[in-house]
Amino acid sequence: MPSALLIEDGTLLSTGGTASVRRGHSVLIEDGFITRVAPGAEFAGYKGRRLSAAGKLVVPGFVNGHTHLYSTFARGLSKARPSRDFMGVLRNLWWRLDSALTTEDCYQSALVALIDSVRHGTTTVIDHHASPGAVGGSLDAVARAVGESGLRACLCYEVSDRDGAKVAQAGLAENVHFIRRCQAHGGPNLRALFGLHASFTLSDRTLEDAAGLGHALEVGFHIHAAEAKADQQAARRRSRTGVIDRLTRFGVLGRRSIAAHCVHVSPREIASLAETGTAVVHNPQSNLNNAVGIARVVEMVRRGVLVGLGTDAMTANMLEEARAALWAQHHANANPSCGFGEVTGALFGGNARIAGRIFGLRVGEIRQGCAADLAIFDYDPPTPLTDGNALGHVLFGLSQAQVDTTIVGGRVLMERRQLKLDIDEARVIARARELARKLWQRM
Ligand SMILES: [Zn+2]
Repeated sequence: MPSALLIEDGTLLSTGGTASVRRGHSVLIEDGFITRVAPGAEFAGYKGRRLSAAGKLVVPGFVNGHTHLYSTFARGLSKARPSRDFMGVLRNLWWRLDSALTTEDCYQSALVALIDSVRHGTTTVIDHHASPGAVGGSLDAVARAVGESGLRACLCYEVSDRDGAKVAQAGLAENVHFIRRCQAHGGPNLRALFGLHASFTLSDRTLEDAAGLGHALEVGFHIHAAEAKADQQAARRRSRTGVIDRLTRFGVLGRRSIAAHCVHVSPREIASLAETGTAVVHNPQSNLNNAVGIARVVEMVRRGVLVGLGTDAMTANMLEEARAALWAQHHANANPSCGFGEVTGALFGGNARIAGRIFGLRVGEIRQGCAADLAIFDYDPPTPLTDGNALGHVLFGLSQAQVDTTIVGGRVLMERRQLKLDIDEARVIARARELARKLWQRM
């Protein structure tokens, strides 16, 4: 990895707190961090490696707050029966697919999805993995793909009782193994959380075991929460409390943890999420696709919940997800003016805080001391671009532009749309297609 790199003469759009636009600025990167940001002329005597961003827009790399790298092979799958509700989607599609995954499938599908992330300027991926037919070693396989992609990733295995006690035990063990591995030698780019599927597929016993192990290892949890009404109904049947109360009772929520979705949460549960400091990751495209409802993002943010944004494997493109998030808030609130600050805040501020908690780094800004995770776009704004309207440009213009260059920790992963990785992309895709065909046959 080159220890120093100068990104020259770009237009910088930084998003810490409020958006700021600086033209003709350069960014000096040393040992993975941004060490200086100043007008280009101030670096005239710089002797090291330079990368021109002239005529381009430099933004902080995006964080995908919740996704499933294993879902690559679902693309184009026509075997799933039509589903009438969320439980049908799980039973007819996802649980059939994940049960058939081999360890090689886990590696190859992750690699495809990670390359896609690089191409879309997503520099950090927070993943939630399931492969009940190949649990042991699955996170190592995903981590191998992460290493080859150069991205930052936080992995976990989703423990569940849905496949019986043996698979649940294997899931607990896989989390423990991988968390220990990351704590011993994860490096700056790899982290782990303790993964749990969702309250409705977890017995009290398994939740208690997972909580005990996670607390002993001093990590947070990553779980789907109140994604559909069925999760709340199951929690009430089982424990006479809602999902958030049930998870809080087991000590699964808190500042280190991520609760994905939280579509069906009561005002009291929102207060509890704020009180415990739990990060909620909103996944609007997935929620719309599964017809489960739309999370009350505006209310959650107003009441002090840390809200981030994820794609739940619908795309690797965080700007596409942010747009869908905004339309969903407009529609749900019957108000075409609401949610802009909350959605852009989740995309930049919320996600940066969540990644910061997990990786112990400052990301999401272009300033001294932040990790050098950047995306450079081919974007020549056809209307004035100012501090005041920069986020409008992000959603309505940048989202339609091409990512030219992606940088993680100062390492250039893609430059001029060419991958700079030790990966033969065409071969990866061809192998993925071959494995997908076999997987579909097994289903
Ligand atoms: Zn998910």
